[in-house]
Amino acid sequence: MSTPSLLILPGDGIGPEVMAEVVRIIDWYGDKRGLKFDVTTDLVGGAAYDVHGVPLADETMAKAQEVDAVLLGAVGGPKYDVLDFSVKPERGLLRLRKEMDLFANLRPAQCFDALADFSSLKKDVVAGLDIMIVRELTSGIYFGEPRGIITEGNERVGINTQRYTESEIRRVAIAAFELAMKRNKKLTSMEKANVMESGILWRDVVNEVAADYPEVEVGHMYADNGAMQLVRAPKQFDVIVTDNLFGDILSDCAAMLTGSLGMLPSASLGAPMENGRPKAMYEPVHGSAPDIAGQGKANPIACILSFAMALRYSFNEGEEATRLEKAIEKVLADGVRTGDLLAGEGVTPVSTSGMGDAILAALDASL
Ligand code: NAD
Repeated sequence: MSTPSLLILPGDGIGPEVMAEVVRIIDWYGDKRGLKFDVTTDLVGGAAYDVHGVPLADETMAKAQEVDAVLLGAVGGPKYDVLDFSVKPERGLLRLRKEMDLFANLRPAQCFDALADFSSLKKDVVAGLDIMIVRELTSGIYFGEPRGIITEGNERVGINTQRYTESEIRRVAIAAFELAMKRNKKLTSMEKANVMESGILWRDVVNEVAADYPEVEVGHMYADNGAMQLVRAPKQFDVIVTDNLFGDILSDCAAMLTGSLGMLPSASLGAPMENGRPKAMYEPVHGSAPDIAGQGKANPIACILSFAMALRYSFNEGEEATRLEKAIEKVLADGVRTGDLLAGEGVTPVSTSGMGDAILAALDASL
């Protein structure tokens, strides 16, 4: 197979700072593991607007469609708040997701033991937690028609429509089953089949797909119970698959089980390309953090963990992804911390690049 290709879009604010550390990790894999990537870097968000007058140039969009994976930092900042809606930095991100048709949003909630104290839940409930929420991203109530605010009689009525086709449910269910096969082979589907027809269809289609994955243990849960179970006993789950609306809420809830925004990666996957790899974009959950941008304070771990997801889900390098995650685990266990994680005894505060240095040293030690 040809050298895997990556398009890096650092974006705005802390985006370029955290991405610089990812680039060092990518170089390390090339030098020390013979895992070379064909890397191109381009502009997105406010940075693209400053140069092209749009938050994503057509040429950049075309490149994103060609590469094996896109790595994105973050977009936005106060400087761009005054721009017209059509050219706001976030539009660049939305255009990438829409035109690449990234329908499966993967949001892991992983709690490193050393950070279990940062959770609002009891340490034993979250220590060692490692679950994955797969959220349908391109359909459902955020897109369904009819929608709008109409007038009926003498009052206004707000309307949104939950609408899912079988094929939309099937493709995200397949993505979730494939993930479960790479993990602990346990999948929980969440909907509201008790009160929503779209939920009944969702459950049916998930069961149909399940027939192709006999090794995966499948469960169904109403989404409201799912929310309760996530905060009661989150370790009962492995992979959760759910629709756009429930996934929006449940993935944020699950993410916060683990503490800091600076630790949360994500992936958005689409249909397989000709080479069998899915269309894919990997990005930290956090934004451009203008309050700390340019000060060397940002935690690069969310962005580095996003690259680990790329290794696992785009490049089938699960062992190397684990190596990187273990290096991060070790660094945290040693008490190395950026400003967002400073608490407790025996911690050493480091800058963004200091955290990169420590992770590279741990990677070296892993050889
Ligand atoms: P934010 O995620 O940028 O920041 C929220 C808080 O978390 C801030 O105090 C910030 O300093 C801190 N923080 C975030 N990431 C951190 C990291 N890696 N290390 C240390 N601390 C970190 O959210 P916001 O302040 O609501 O938004 C700021 C800008 O980012 C806005 O323009 C918003 O539109 C944009 N935004 C972009 C994305 C994206 O690119 N995917 C997501 C959310 C917000």
